[in-house]
Amino acid sequence: MYFELGEEYALKLDEADPLTEYKERFYGLPDCIYMDGNSLGLMSYDAESTLLRVMDEWKKLGIKGWGGAEVPWIGYAERLGELQAPLVGAYPDELVVTGGTTVNLHALVATFYRPEGGRRRILADELNFPSDLYALRAQIRLRGGDPDEDLVLVKSRDGLIIEEDDVVDAMGDEVALALLPSVYYRSGQLLDMGRLTKEAHERGILIGFDCSHSVGVVPHYLSEWGVDFAFWCNYKYLNGGPGSTGSLYVNRRHFGSMPGLAGWFGNDRGTMFEMRTEFDPARTAAAWQIGTTTMLSSAPIEGSLRMMAEAGIGNIREKSIQITGYLMFLIDELLGGEPYNYGVATPREPERRGGHVGVTHEDAWRITQALIARGVVPDFRPPNIIRLAPIPLYISFHDVWKVARHLKAVIDGGEHEAFSDDRGTVT
Ligand SMILES: *Cc1c(COP(=O)(O)O)cnc(C)c1O
Repeated sequence: MYFELGEEYALKLDEADPLTEYKERFYGLPDCIYMDGNSLGLMSYDAESTLLRVMDEWKKLGIKGWGGAEVPWIGYAERLGELQAPLVGAYPDELVVTGGTTVNLHALVATFYRPEGGRRRILADELNFPSDLYALRAQIRLRGGDPDEDLVLVKSRDGLIIEEDDVVDAMGDEVALALLPSVYYRSGQLLDMGRLTKEAHERGILIGFDCSHSVGVVPHYLSEWGVDFAFWCNYKYLNGGPGSTGSLYVNRRHFGSMPGLAGWFGNDRGTMFEMRTEFDPARTAAAWQIGTTTMLSSAPIEGSLRMMAEAGIGNIREKSIQITGYLMFLIDELLGGEPYNYGVATPREPERRGGHVGVTHEDAWRITQALIARGVVPDFRPPNIIRLAPIPLYISFHDVWKVARHLKAVIDGGEHEAFSDDRGTVT
């Protein structure tokens, strides 16, 4: 990819960007370049308006909203699933917007982890988000297993990247289930989900993915790849608001399996209100819902999904590859050597990276504080990563150019030295 260093060039890239108009559809933070949308996406006017609509329906309809709202609340989780399906290459009935990320992991692993005979292990990796590993250990314990024995963690060769070859090598006869992230939360590495699914299935292993760091910025082909199940949160690239409802995907070939964590919202809608004592699961992914749809945490997602459909995930990915490439170029060219010593943890190959860039520095924590003081919002992940997410819908090439100037100025002025090494509560 070809880039230039100058400010003019950044402005030229913005002029050619078909997504520039979307920036105005978000509430930006005043005097701030928000590079943390991979942790909590900004609020859009679109998300706000669907939330306000549902609040108004609650106000005016009370319980009648379940059947009488503009988008009836009773089928809302499935309706949002249909809206989201094209983003991840799923059939509309394979997706439902429900629960939370870690809760959905539990619901899916409780269903698809079926330890039997010598096949009792779960394959994961040491770089996944800790919550996923805690949940997997708990699931093994619930089945009477020993997590130290039955949870196999693929090791990283360099602490940043997991090689697909190493994952495949670990897919032995004793593995029942593999669970991996799509994109690593630190380095931004994107795994080859299609290949890993094929390799797992050839070895009789079921496979699921945590797509929290890829949905909304990377296109997926979950059905075509044949992924058994997946889940993700909707508050990062999906801009659904803090703690918004999560999503879960179940491949059609598993429709009719008994959900491991059954609850009445997973019941077939036709018989749900007969209030039988026997669970009659829906014949779609809807069966994996547990309780009542969390309407106020789901409503913003509707506006967000409609906006994404309009912008096009292909356009979003194209800009994302270009703008992350541009950020890495600026770091290499301006900030790589002495006295700056910034590095890049993210893979250079576009097909191997998601939407954020992990910038390394031995003083990463203090630099993060200095950037915040300058009106740039990144985040820090131990031990030495400054995460910068140039969100395609609301970050411009000029913003990225400015962020590189800020990174440089912090070191030029020794500004980070004014901050303590003490890490308080982290975001
Ligand atoms: C953000 C994130 C989560 C968050 O889990 P919650 O249950 O929503 O708190 C889980 N897994 C990964 C990989 C994430 O990036």
